[in-house]
Amino acid sequence: MSTPTPAQQLLHTAQQMAQAGLNKGSSGNASIRLDDGFLITPSGVPAEQLSKDSMVYMDWQGRPEAGKKPSSEWRFHSDILQARPEVNAVLHCHSMFATTIACMGRAVPPFHYMIATAGGDDIRCAPYALFGTQALSDGAMAALQDRKACLLAHHGMIAIGKSLPQALAIAVEVEGLCEQYWRLLQFGEPTLLTPEQMRAVHAQFKGYGQWAR
Ligand code: 13P
Ligand code: ZN
Repeated sequence: MSTPTPAQQLLHTAQQMAQAGLNKGSSGNASIRLDDGFLITPSGVPAEQLSKDSMVYMDWQGRPEAGKKPSSEWRFHSDILQARPEVNAVLHCHSMFATTIACMGRAVPPFHYMIATAGGDDIRCAPYALFGTQALSDGAMAALQDRKACLLAHHGMIAIGKSLPQALAIAVEVEGLCEQYWRLLQFGEPTLLTPEQMRAVHAQFKGYGQWAR
């Protein structure tokens, strides 16, 4: 079987996000890097209505291909892909638990060692900004510094990766961590791993499975 095209890969990931319960209806979006720009999901189309032909090509100047309407969040997809050469895929979703924590405007602290899979000792929460704006992109870029995921206050989450499957794995992991954090908050504030303990976790992950960096 031939290698799937970027449009087929993007379609598959958008469908997987819906199947995994990360997105419902037309919330969320996804993109993949191309040589001379990127391919992004169209605006306002539920996963079950997407086809590979509905994916929208955009150049680095933010110009979409004629006759197609890209995701309203194309700014942060474009900004992340341009600023982070190691990143080839960007996912955004309104998954239940990440969004719940994001609506509290909270970062997720290192209550569990798997926080390290998001790239650091916490998962930051970018300040609220209107969807589809440069202000939202600017806040997300800052929250993603040295990270593979962030929350967006009163909105949802962004996960990024070297590939679409890797970004999806990060999004699924972050959603699970946010559910655990939400459950822990029912008891009060959880105890946290120390910076030293987290340093050891980052070191242990080097060369471990698919998280190898
Ligand atoms: P789009 O359908 O335009 O991608 O918007 C969905 C969304 O999540 C906006 O933040
Ligand atoms: Zn959104």
